[in-house]
Amino acid sequence: MKVAKRTVVTIDYTLTSDEGEVIDSSSGGEPLAYLHGVGNIVPGLESALDGRDQGESVNVKVAPGEGYGERDPKLVHRATRAQFQGIDELEVGMRFQARSGNEMTVVTVVAVEGDDITLDANHPLAGVTLNFDVRIVGVRPATPVELEHGHPHGADGNHHH
Ligand code: ZN
Repeated sequence: MKVAKRTVVTIDYTLTSDEGEVIDSSSGGEPLAYLHGVGNIVPGLESALDGRDQGESVNVKVAPGEGYGERDPKLVHRATRAQFQGIDELEVGMRFQARSGNEMTVVTVVAVEGDDITLDANHPLAGVTLNFDVRIVGVRPATPVELEHGHPHGADGNHHH
């Protein structure tokens, strides 16, 4: 069966940066299942898999605009240590949930200088070119409930995640 809208696709994948660093991989774990055509995965990978067949391997380079977006310098904010009550050790790389309006976003500590803390609300992979090495393990029609929910329910379509 071919990858198309309203199919659930199961993939083994390795994601590396242009520098060859492995960012994410299903290797050693469960393959990833997603509902095709509804934005479960980044647009550049979704379009590269469209029309491909079960068993095929796909290598695709995804530019930031088709991945997690470009970095927005306006999403980098200054904060003070006093805003982090109850946290003794603030270190570069720590992530926090922050509320902005009605949305929860994840911010990353990118600099700590005395009491001045710099936070970045960009997605950690914003601005990064993504190199996907994918093998299509399985393709099956989505169930009506999966289509309604907009996500897959496990290998047999019954388990809810
Ligand atoms: Zn569901």
